[in-house]
Amino acid sequence: MIGRLFLILVLLAVSLYVVKYIRTKLDETQKRIDKESDNENNDSNTTNQNTKKLMVKCQQCGLHIPEKEAIKQGDNIFCSLEHAKKEL
Ligand SMILES: [Zn+2]
Repeated sequence: MIGRLFLILVLLAVSLYVVKYIRTKLDETQKRIDKESDNENNDSNTTNQNTKKLMVKCQQCGLHIPEKEAIKQGDNIFCSLEHAKKEL
């Protein structure tokens, strides 16, 4: 009789534990999904900003650099002063 009561108590404790465990897992998954969707939004924002920047190609080494950082000599575009001098 005592053994049976003990078994019921154990089963009750286990089922309570399982329910608690599943709830915690579900919460974690939900939080992770929220976080991931936030990251995706951030990524797409950064990509948009990058594509807005105009990239130009160095005449000397072929390196692509933002137009702002490029050295321009007439129609030629260079990544650095060194490469601009080499071309001359
Ligand atoms: Zn270069």
